[in-house]
Amino acid sequence: MVSGNAARLTVLSGPSGVGKGTVVAEVRRRHPDVWLSVSVTTRRPRPGEVDGVQYHFVDDDEFDRLIENDGLLEWAEYAGNRYGTPVAPLRERLATGAPALLEIELQGARQVRARDPEAQLVFLAPPSWAALESRLAGRGSEPPAVQERRLALAQAELDASGEFDAIVVNDDVERAADELVSLLTAPSPGLVPGE
Ligand code: ADP
Ligand code: 5GP
Repeated sequence: MVSGNAARLTVLSGPSGVGKGTVVAEVRRRHPDVWLSVSVTTRRPRPGEVDGVQYHFVDDDEFDRLIENDGLLEWAEYAGNRYGTPVAPLRERLATGAPALLEIELQGARQVRARDPEAQLVFLAPPSWAALESRLAGRGSEPPAVQERRLALAQAELDASGEFDAIVVNDDVERAADELVSLLTAPSPGLVPGE
């Protein structure tokens, strides 16, 4: 158990390009107090990404060390790079009784569920496959071959959406952010009076 009784851990997943980063940024613009875990990754920074802000960028040896030292709540390989959630800052945050948000891919979401059945899993879905393709291409942050690799994974991710507690369709950023805020602030099932 990671979250204990008081604080809720929410996991946001969804295929690459669906708009997870955009919707989370909108949520934080409105609610700067929403705490988002900063993952470690072996991927190279994109232009404009800053170490310690979007990610902690590490090499393979450092990532191996984090795994060996039980420094990660979960980790996964995704499209040729490794990504993981540092466990210490998350534990610290949840210990204060305040909610926390992870933005991670499907394999990681499953690991979190296995370790913390109370965690709330939210899937961000595209309004259509065509919208997903055009958003990923429109972002322009990966070469076409990498986009193809991410789209190939996206179908399996969409097929797994039924494993999640809630599905939010990102048709409109503001509307999707509203829904995510409601979910983040909803009391955890264990705390609902009368249950
Ligand atoms: P992810 O973090 O899921 O990989 P991003 O947040 O980087 O996705 O979004 C991918 C692209 O889609 C970006 O160019 C973003 O501006 C665009 N986008 C996000 N949400 C929407 C939306 N609701 N409608 C149209 N475009 C969107
Ligand atoms: P990107 O390279 O586009 O930043 O992220 C690729 C994928 O890795 C996204 O689906 C993102 O949610 C996921 N991801 C980011 N951080 C983590 C993490 O700590 N663990 C896992 N399992 N996935 C992550």
